[in-house]
Amino acid sequence: MLIFGSRSSHLKTVPTTISCASCGTPNQTQISVYGRYLHVFWIPLFPIGKSVVAHCEHCQKTYRPASLPQELKEAGRAAKRQAKAPFWHYLGLSTIILLLSTLIYIGSSTTDNTELYFADPKPGDKYMYKVENDGDKVYSYFKIATVGKDTLWVHLNKYFSEKQFRSYKIDKTDNYEEETVAMPRATIAKMKTDGNIMSISR
Ligand SMILES: [Zn+2]
Repeated sequence: MLIFGSRSSHLKTVPTTISCASCGTPNQTQISVYGRYLHVFWIPLFPIGKSVVAHCEHCQKTYRPASLPQELKEAGRAAKRQAKAPFWHYLGLSTIILLLSTLIYIGSSTTDNTELYFADPKPGDKYMYKVENDGDKVYSYFKIATVGKDTLWVHLNKYFSEKQFRSYKIDKTDNYEEETVAMPRATIAKMKTDGNIMSISR
């Protein structure tokens, strides 16, 4: 079963004024450029080169790449430079790059260690939490000062944000209370179960 190979597609045909080496007629020889591409399961991956074929319209002589007269070779090189492989020759490669970059992006943007940090709290950990205020949901932080067996002593952030995505603005050192308050770990666990701990950063 053929799953991997190369194919060619026509890119461009240009007229020339060159006289045909076979019949001597000028202005009748055309140069055609073909783009070769690698494919897997007939899906083009990426281009692997170009070749030129010349054809005399007068005597129907076809010049293969290996048998191009010098003059046609030079005209062929110029035609190759002008002929660009179409986007679909890169289809497979572009798809792979797109998929990889998407995966890398997802991987980097959603690396969320909240579960890890929750299981093993450390001083300095910052919890973003949600709380109801007059029927509205608001967001704030508390920062762990001391980790006890059943209790975490935390510095509460003095401010609340109405939007979760903007709450980072209140996360400034000066915005945390000097004093600490005791937060039973059971209470924090309940907040987390209820979906009120949004994230933990370290
Ligand atoms: Zn000819």
